Amino acid sequence: MDTNDGNTIWDVLIIGGGPAGLAAALYAARALRSTLVLEKEMPGGQIATTSEVEDYPGIEMTTGPELSMLLMQHAEKFGAVMDIGGEVVDVDFRDTIKSVTLLDGRQVSARSIIIATGAAARKLGVPGEKELGGQGVSYCAVCDGPFFRDRHLAVIGGGDAAFDEALYLTKYASKVTIIHRRDEFRAQKVLVDRARNNPKIELITSTTVERINDPATGLQSLTLRNLKTDDTYDFPIQGVFVYIGNIPSTEIFRECVARDENGYIIVDENMATDCPGVFVAGDVRKSPLKQVVTAGADGSIAALTADKYLDDLDAGMAPVQAEALATSPETWKESY
Ligand code: NAP
Repeated sequence: MDTNDGNTIWDVLIIGGGPAGLAAALYAARALRSTLVLEKEMPGGQIATTSEVEDYPGIEMTTGPELSMLLMQHAEKFGAVMDIGGEVVDVDFRDTIKSVTLLDGRQVSARSIIIATGAAARKLGVPGEKELGGQGVSYCAVCDGPFFRDRHLAVIGGGDAAFDEALYLTKYASKVTIIHRRDEFRAQKVLVDRARNNPKIELITSTTVERINDPATGLQSLTLRNLKTDDTYDFPIQGVFVYIGNIPSTEIFRECVARDENGYIIVDENMATDCPGVFVAGDVRKSPLKQVVTAGADGSIAALTADKYLDDLDAGMAPVQAEALATSPETWKESY
């Protein structure tokens, strides 16, 4: 099946290869739907850059990269086809046969879509952040932690990610200071307690980062503001990891599906959007909880809803379209 031939029509096209997209791929392929996953970077999405995962039921402890590979291999086992590097830049979901355009110009067509594009790291937006990106400022402890052996690091944020990754960074750093803008933490109590009991971790609250200093010579300090006293001061540091939440990757879908005020896609309990044949799973949707396990659950629901939608579609489909559909997992894989 060649995505360039213009005739191939996938049953289920999944955009995004994180836990939500990979779980959807497993369920869709297992339901014998020809299934293609387009993932622009690496399988696993955000989880691929997460150090330790200890809250996925049935797996006491694993790493993000390891879990990512397991999820991908499981989906592939049932015949889902992965296109790693396939970056979607434009979409047209108006008709029954939907199409997406990839960065390299290819067009891919499908009868149903599952959006599982996740979310990207939010930036602080302070002077010095952009200039020092990759030179002292990082958004990925797993990727960059080993470069900061025996250094004093700052982690910005007060959510689960900030605490998880601060704890991970203590493996390498001499000291980790978590800097949070409020007095209270959004992170789970178990993580906050673990950080408080870790002698390498220091907590600074009610404080914001105003500036990341010394772009010319490499990172040396943060200018911090104490929100209670309004004092600003220089805080010497040798590296900073920013974990202040995420922004959903939904810009390219803004014309076709309803989103909330923060850009998250609005779905019903079946993961269906307001656009027929377009479903959603994972962090990209408006939801109260964003975990690997909820992403996987979303993916399974989205895939089975897509399967039912295709059943309904098949009932009234013209034969000429049906000819373009793949018939077995062997066919999907061989011809892509
Ligand atoms: P999050 O829960 O949204 O927390 C973001 C944190 O950054 C909040 O403490 C927030 O402060 C702070 N923040 C936001 N904008 C800021 C800014 N401009 N300047 C300074 N601080 C700012 O995000 P997350 O920690 O990345 O987690 C995202 C989701 O993934 C959550 O649902 C989380 O539970 C989940 N997750 C779970 C695990 C786990 O279970 N182990 C691990 C990682 C992530 P305020 O509190 O003041 O708003």
